[in-house]
Amino acid sequence: MKILQAINHYPVAIKTQVEQLIESEQLSDYLLNKYPQAHSIMSEKALYDYVLDIKKRFIKQSAPISKVSYDAKIQLLKHALGTHTYVSRVQGNKLKAKQEIRIATLFKQAPQAMLDMIVVHELAHLKEKQHNKAFYQLCCYMLPDYHQLELDTRLFLINSALNGNLYEKTK
Ligand SMILES: [Zn+2]
Repeated sequence: MKILQAINHYPVAIKTQVEQLIESEQLSDYLLNKYPQAHSIMSEKALYDYVLDIKKRFIKQSAPISKVSYDAKIQLLKHALGTHTYVSRVQGNKLKAKQEIRIATLFKQAPQAMLDMIVVHELAHLKEKQHNKAFYQLCCYMLPDYHQLELDTRLFLINSALNGNLYEKTK
């Protein structure tokens, strides 16, 4: 099943459980039960303030962020939940590095905990470029439940591909 590539690197036991949830059509219920509500951070201004607040709390001394946005072009299920880019611009005779964080538009209607997970992931990249041990330690420092949330976020992606928007379902 191609859609399961989002959780390809997880242990077989987890993948089997997820397959069972999909086959018995209980994946949406699993997610809704755990995350009954979507966040309400809709505008890019609100998103920017939200990210800056988390940054200030945990990694104040890292590079400044110039822009945070929802991006419809991010390819989901491949690998990216969000992206961080470094844009270098020449201003006068100075080369200025700008940090931008883009979050896949799909997460506009997602649980706040998952938005937190993505924000924390992208913020951690300000300090650690690679997905190494130090990177995940930093993620868990900002969000102790990071690993569980990353798995649930991948399940949310799978569910979106299979069943559409989790929070717009009429039951
Ligand atoms: Zn990453």
